[in-house]
Amino acid sequence: MDVANEVKQLRKVLEEHNYRYYVKDDPIISDYEYDQLMRRLIALEAEHPELLSPDSPTQRVGGAPVSAFAPVEHRVPLESLQDVFSMEELLAFDQRIKNTIPSPQYVIEPKVDGLSVALEYENGLLVRGATRGNGTIGEDVTENLKTIASIPLRLENAPSVLIVRGEVYMPHRVFETLNEQRELEGKPLFANPRNAAAGSLRQLNPKVAAERRLDIAVFNIQFAEGVSLATHMDSLDYLEQLHFKVIYHRLYQNIQEIAQAVEEMGEKRYDFAFEMDGAVIKLNNLSDRLQLGSTAKFPRWAAAYKYPPEEKPSKVTEIIVQVGRTGVLTPKAVVEPVRLAGTTVTNATLHNQDFISSKDIRVGDTVLLRKAGEIIPEVLSVLLEKRPEGTIPYLLPDICPVCGAPVHRDENGAAYRCTGAECPAQLARRVVHFASRDAMDVEGLGPAVAESLIEAGLIHSAGDLYNLRTEQVAALERMGQKSAENLIAAIEKSKQQDLSRLIYALGIRQVGQKAAKILAAQFQTLSNLEHADRNDLVSIHEIGPITADYMIEWFENEQSRHLLALLREAGVNETAAQKQPEQDMPFAGLTFVLTGTLEAYTRGEAKKAIEDLGGTVSGSVSKKTNYVIAGENPGSKQKKAQELGVSILTEAEFRQMLQEKKIG
Ligand code: AMP
Repeated sequence: MDVANEVKQLRKVLEEHNYRYYVKDDPIISDYEYDQLMRRLIALEAEHPELLSPDSPTQRVGGAPVSAFAPVEHRVPLESLQDVFSMEELLAFDQRIKNTIPSPQYVIEPKVDGLSVALEYENGLLVRGATRGNGTIGEDVTENLKTIASIPLRLENAPSVLIVRGEVYMPHRVFETLNEQRELEGKPLFANPRNAAAGSLRQLNPKVAAERRLDIAVFNIQFAEGVSLATHMDSLDYLEQLHFKVIYHRLYQNIQEIAQAVEEMGEKRYDFAFEMDGAVIKLNNLSDRLQLGSTAKFPRWAAAYKYPPEEKPSKVTEIIVQVGRTGVLTPKAVVEPVRLAGTTVTNATLHNQDFISSKDIRVGDTVLLRKAGEIIPEVLSVLLEKRPEGTIPYLLPDICPVCGAPVHRDENGAAYRCTGAECPAQLARRVVHFASRDAMDVEGLGPAVAESLIEAGLIHSAGDLYNLRTEQVAALERMGQKSAENLIAAIEKSKQQDLSRLIYALGIRQVGQKAAKILAAQFQTLSNLEHADRNDLVSIHEIGPITADYMIEWFENEQSRHLLALLREAGVNETAAQKQPEQDMPFAGLTFVLTGTLEAYTRGEAKKAIEDLGGTVSGSVSKKTNYVIAGENPGSKQKKAQELGVSILTEAEFRQMLQEKKIG
């Protein structure tokens, strides 16, 4: 056999096995044998690129990424469906049809909750696949659709032009595995299989789409050149013969039979491999369909019966509270395991205190649960008649269940938040904030690095950053010696940042960059800010009472004190770089001289306190001296002051002056 023939033969055989495996679910060779055949084909195509062909099974692994999807105008529009929500509405639908068609027969199919696509074949070759878009214009996602193993790339004995419509979906099994995987990787979860399928089909990189293991259920012939079929059943048979994976379908003689079938399908709705949210009822006779036609939005000959989401009662055995990375406390009800919408449910979201209070959900209550498309079910209501004696209304804890810091309700929302500056649940986020560009600006300290420092147990607080050693950092995964050195240098450099950045970096609620700047300018030192009382704070125009309370509480918190101690130990700059204009400051133009030993201050501290308020400290007394501050055992400076008539202050007077000036 020459190479061209062998390639052709291999493709045919592989597609046949593919069909048996993915469409018929009835493989006749082992995965191993299949892989061997595939490898042979890959090798031959690599040796003979001239034999490459878009319909080769080797093309299913996903081609080159694209930058955007081209628009495609559908030759036949992809219409929507009219909804019915009750048996009465279903009978009314039948009545409307009977005005024109005396004894209609209907086909029932599941309504797959996925994405509608049109597949276009020319002379048997898949040339284009497009999403529904707005029904008239969709997007060309051919390369991604080719990765779906149950879509034939080439048809035998097909008409010159064939367009079919189907629903692309992510099977439950695949969806669950994908979300488990994403959870491990710390990626956001897909809310439901439909979203996951949509995200996968609209991947610009077909290799990613290929990994997602999508599937299709084909349910309509949109157009078939030269083919005439009498009924919907015939067209589905025809599609099956062409090796399409056709949707589950069944023919019934009248609406009464259909009504029963709708109920039965409703009971089995969770047994399908895909998410389904209804049953589609379609007129079987195709010429009758033509006669009825369509409205602007949907055909008159079909309807979607929507099933209400399943609801089941279960007992709340416990209410647990989780603390998120932003510090928000999220309560969850632990319930006795119950089978709901196809999965076993063991907990339900309770959102927040307002939600719990409005429904008065208590531990011990029996609640009605519902899963509405999302993974975690919600609590609809409490079955009060089942409430046991002795239950009490539930209140969220007022201390954080992770770190014990006080919990506060957001000033403008329903969220309760932990205030712990070193709360382990929020540590990564707090460290990243501390190091961010507008805060301490530590280059190279992003989320990934923060996470690995925490995981390695090297930091328990943003303050621990300053105790890191190069060799510890270098030992982390994905960190070389050089990048470790750079990080340590960047951390070291950040010690010199201005006070306003430090205040912002602390992550006090409501204290953003602007407030931090104002506070730094006003208080000049971290210590002044730390010791400011509520009046000091609210007297600042931009600081409201709520922010002031957050600040007072923050500085009182043990975790905050620990953090400040670490920062001070490390020698982080605590003063504002840009002083206020001298003339605006309370001690502007005043010269002080210190003598003797002060009780509450070291010399340095006293000097700083004076300078922070705009005053100058001089080493010797002269006529220009305004005040001499005399501690215990004052020296000759006091005498000199007396001689020159300079005011002498006791330590107590000095302290009072500092206080008054600060407020004033
Ligand atoms: P809706 O999106 O609610 O307007 O419902 C119409 C959509 O249901 C169509 O666009 C199809 O994507 C989808 N659908 C799912 N299964 C079927 C089916 N068996 N027959 C027709 N449409 C279906």
